[in-house]
Amino acid sequence: MRDIISIHKTGFRLLKMIHSVDSIIIPLHLLELCMSLVQVYGGLFLTAALIDALLLGSFEQAAGLALGLLGMTLVLGLCSGLARRRFQGLRTKIWLVFYVWLRRKSFSLDYETMEKPEVSEKIIFSERTSDMYGGLGVLLYHYCDMIRSVLSILLSVSLVIYLCLARPESPEGLLGRLAGPVPTALLFVGVLAGMGWSSWKVFKKYAVKQQEIFQSHTGVENKLSYLMNQVLANVKVGKIVRLYGMQDMLLHNTKEEMEKSHSYFERMCLVGRQESSANRAVSSIFTIVSYLLVAMKAVTGAVTIGAFTQYAGALNQFGTSVSSLIGDHGGMRKICTYMQEFLAFLDMETLHEKGSIPVEKRNDGEYELAFENVSFRYPGSREMVLKSVNCRIRVKGKMAVVGKNGAGKTTFIKLLCRLYEPTEGRITLNGIDIRKYDEEEYRSLFGVVFQDFKLFAFPVWENITAGYERQEDRIWEALRQADAEEMVKKMPEQLDTWLYKNMKNGVDISGGEAQKLALARALYKDAPVVILDEPTAALDPKAEAQIYARFNRMVEGRTSIFISHRMSSCRFCDDIIVFDQGEIVERGSHEELLAARGNYAEMWNAQAKYYESQESLREINNNQNKSTEK
Ligand code: ADP
Repeated sequence: MRDIISIHKTGFRLLKMIHSVDSIIIPLHLLELCMSLVQVYGGLFLTAALIDALLLGSFEQAAGLALGLLGMTLVLGLCSGLARRRFQGLRTKIWLVFYVWLRRKSFSLDYETMEKPEVSEKIIFSERTSDMYGGLGVLLYHYCDMIRSVLSILLSVSLVIYLCLARPESPEGLLGRLAGPVPTALLFVGVLAGMGWSSWKVFKKYAVKQQEIFQSHTGVENKLSYLMNQVLANVKVGKIVRLYGMQDMLLHNTKEEMEKSHSYFERMCLVGRQESSANRAVSSIFTIVSYLLVAMKAVTGAVTIGAFTQYAGALNQFGTSVSSLIGDHGGMRKICTYMQEFLAFLDMETLHEKGSIPVEKRNDGEYELAFENVSFRYPGSREMVLKSVNCRIRVKGKMAVVGKNGAGKTTFIKLLCRLYEPTEGRITLNGIDIRKYDEEEYRSLFGVVFQDFKLFAFPVWENITAGYERQEDRIWEALRQADAEEMVKKMPEQLDTWLYKNMKNGVDISGGEAQKLALARALYKDAPVVILDEPTAALDPKAEAQIYARFNRMVEGRTSIFISHRMSSCRFCDDIIVFDQGEIVERGSHEELLAARGNYAEMWNAQAKYYESQESLREINNNQNKSTEK
């Protein structure tokens, strides 16, 4: 019972959500169900009266009834048809809104939560099950059908009561006595109770089975979605797949997961089919027994032949309504069970406070950021990735963060951008803990190009403006600064050219070109703090040198942080922080650090030897000198 209450609680919450999408949907469904009931029961009454009129020879009355029956069937049939056609559009609308709800919620959650595999499993599972079972639109259909069935059961039961009250012409003999009001009522109660009990048993049995199958299905959809969408459907993966001959392995893995997923849905469907067959069997037995009871009433003269058709029809409706009620309840339960995952996802709290203090708008860009004793460990891992980090980021300074791979540089930036919160210690902005600031306002301070930056299959301008207003001259300026102006000018529709071929026949760009556009996007944001995480990793040495040369100008008047494991890139930064195993081990200018002969000097010397192009190193130095002279 508790299970049913919880399912309906979910159901009503979902109905409320459906209502919020379009307030006409539910009333329209209710209207349609009323029309269909009037059509069925009105039809039964009119048909019974028509038969009796014909048997009594009142042809005029029969003609009137026949016309009434025809008119009612036509009008109500037409209206129901129109309403049903309107539902289709509305159901598609609900179906689409469902995806928007999912995505909106995922963006509102903090990054840390979204990284958890169980969270993405929830999203993917909700999407897939919604696709398989029809989701919210079908839930509404089940609910309306259930209301229709309940009303139909009530109407047919009231007719049965009426039938029971009818007395036989002669209460003699076994049939005559059985056809009396009390014995018929008892017989009907027995039949109804038998049917109710059997249906309940069927419902319980299959509910348990479905729950067991549902709970056994974990992790599969996540894996399958990754393989299907990010591996097999990704054109770029094709290169690696061909070179390494990974086709068989990938297809084998996908097939394995697909089989698991398929077997889940198959088992669910099989249980559904078994449940409806069992329900049909129960309802058929009931229909046969109840027909016999009505026939007994007619034979003993308690009701007319016309009334016989009416009562038989009502009992038929009763049987189908009970079985459809149970079927719809099963369907509704199935949808609500997986929708509970969806609602659990919607109810997920963000792990961290969003903060409320507005960030002071300063034209002078005086935003001072500081790490105070910050240690950090990724959720689910035991090791501290950052250990007691203390550092003040100089306002409008050019800071470089260097260190070997895995030293904690990117993590340092992620914490600064508030994608994660420190496990210990705090980060401050102008002396106040950054957690207290409004999250969105705080993030607006940063223009970041991460190592794994992402461009979208949108037009170039949309990739650059990233949601901010399109200002042509500013876009070109950002492109110029990022050394991407020429490249975009050569594109067929310049700023309106679509990137990649996913949506339109757009242009494919190289990793280096993509990185330049990502850089332009960060610059267009015009944020007071610019962070570049290995921004030149995909560029050739010449382009790298050019970017470094422009870097001074690009970040003029802003605080800039530049992460790299290439020491050459630090030459033009006035403040260099060296990370090693999550700790700041050295800090100073290039010259100071070289003189200190520590970690930095060691890395510098090691890299200088192997740096692909000493020429470009020289170029960097020359450009650096030139821009300093300016
Ligand atoms: P760097 O940028 O210096 O190369 P990172 O900050 O990316 O280093 O990584 C520091 C350490 O944190 C590495 O050992 C890495 O494996 C670990 N790490 C990075 N991201 C995660 C994550 N999402 N979950 C768990 N560990 C992570």
